[in-house]
Amino acid sequence: MRLLTIKDLELAGKKVFIRCDFNVPLDEFGNITDDRRIRAALQTIRYCLDHECSIVLASHMGRPKGQFNEKYSLKPVAKRLQALLHQDVTLAKDVVGPDAMSKAKELKNGEILLLENVRFEPGETKNDPELAKKFASMAEFYVNDAFGVSHRAHASVEAITHYYDNHHKGAGFLLQKEIKYFHKLLKNPTRPFMAIVGGSKVSGKLEALINLLPKVDKMVIGGAMAFTFLKANGLEVGKSLVEEDLLDDANHIVQEAKRLGVKFYLPVDFVVAPEFKEDAPVKYVTYQEIPKDWIGLDIGLASTRLFREALSDCQTILWNGPMGVFEMDKFARGSFKLANYVAESYATKIVGGGDTADLVQRAGVDDEMTFISTGGGASLELLEGKTLPGIAALEIKDEDA
Ligand code: AMP
Repeated sequence: MRLLTIKDLELAGKKVFIRCDFNVPLDEFGNITDDRRIRAALQTIRYCLDHECSIVLASHMGRPKGQFNEKYSLKPVAKRLQALLHQDVTLAKDVVGPDAMSKAKELKNGEILLLENVRFEPGETKNDPELAKKFASMAEFYVNDAFGVSHRAHASVEAITHYYDNHHKGAGFLLQKEIKYFHKLLKNPTRPFMAIVGGSKVSGKLEALINLLPKVDKMVIGGAMAFTFLKANGLEVGKSLVEEDLLDDANHIVQEAKRLGVKFYLPVDFVVAPEFKEDAPVKYVTYQEIPKDWIGLDIGLASTRLFREALSDCQTILWNGPMGVFEMDKFARGSFKLANYVAESYATKIVGGGDTADLVQRAGVDDEMTFISTGGGASLELLEGKTLPGIAALEIKDEDA
């Protein structure tokens, strides 16, 4: 796949609209608790500053449902950006209203304007061409660096691209990096290639499992998903989370793995509790001995050792989804242990965004990973083999070449 990229654009001294993903988590006082997504956008912003551009930045935050809501204001983002860039960042009072429009018009080279949360405009999530036209009227170039929303056909991601020709739009550095890693992973991985898939539900990852199966050499299943596979195999899983309607799909995946020669791993032991509670008493049991009324909430030590053995010769590891309820200390050990084993490996280690990104950070091994995606939903859609609308809009088609 060939992309139009920021480096192909002759944007020196021009006005550039950069769609970023500044959807960062805030605490109850409105402080940013994790600014990875802001830092991830700096390379593109600095590149434009180095080329003496004037910069209009746009992002969403949360789901304000198409109207102004102070709680979702990008004020904290403007402050953090200012601190990271060591320069003023002006926050517009609105998105495409009189304040934003006049400030964008008056913007001088080297200055940065941040629009208010694009989802304050109802047209954003509707991919409204009128809203996109207003965005496009603010700048001569469009750069998408918001991988985390590239699976959404939204006005500042998709519709806006129709107002720029191929010489005036492109992917920012972060978007390029995300695409490069996932493309290599799915098209030409260095083998052996292992996918570790966990999390709460098979249903959420079914398409990704099916798409990945013919591409991997080994597949490890963890988290609550494992219980649907064990139950499908006729085992007692107590009150653990099971998706009864997916038992056949689980069996089909196991059969497919066998047919394709993929080494398929399930956990062999669990941490179980009578209740889904942090302070519940726990037992450590093998998969054959899960008590009837108990719930499996983490994988056990034998499983993490088994998975360590399995990953020891791998050259590429993709990890998407935790092994247990890692948000509760008592059920975090399996995920944290595995995070350390993955970190120790010499493989190329790619972490899908969302929970798994938080998990490796909490385990203190984020620096050891080759690449941590900034988009949970978007990376999952890439793993499912889908084309993301925000990326398709920047692809060079043959007739363009
Ligand atoms: P997902 O969004 O599907 O990747 O799932 C992530 C969530 O799965 C996390 O919030 C975990 O707490 C949850 N999870 C992982 N293992 C289990 C389990 N054994 N039982 C219930 N929830 C789990």
